Amino acid sequence: MRDGEQVLDFEPILTAAITCPVCGFQEALTMPEDACQFLYQCSSCQAVSRPLAGDCCVFCSYADVLCPPMQRESSGQD
Ligand SMILES: [Zn+2]
Repeated sequence: MRDGEQVLDFEPILTAAITCPVCGFQEALTMPEDACQFLYQCSSCQAVSRPLAGDCCVFCSYADVLCPPMQRESSGQD
């Protein structure tokens, strides 16, 4: 136990494999730990994608893991 700090032993996954919805190209990206990334530019076809309706960021829409804030939300219910 650390003093003066909230005990947060939840460690979000920060690496996501995102799939371009335009061309299907997949690449590994590092996600910002406590921010949502709204735009994703495919490094293959250069298309810029936005989140699907209801999703907070492109990782929630197109990657294999949710963004860190959503991971925290879905695991930290208590
Ligand atoms: Zn693409």
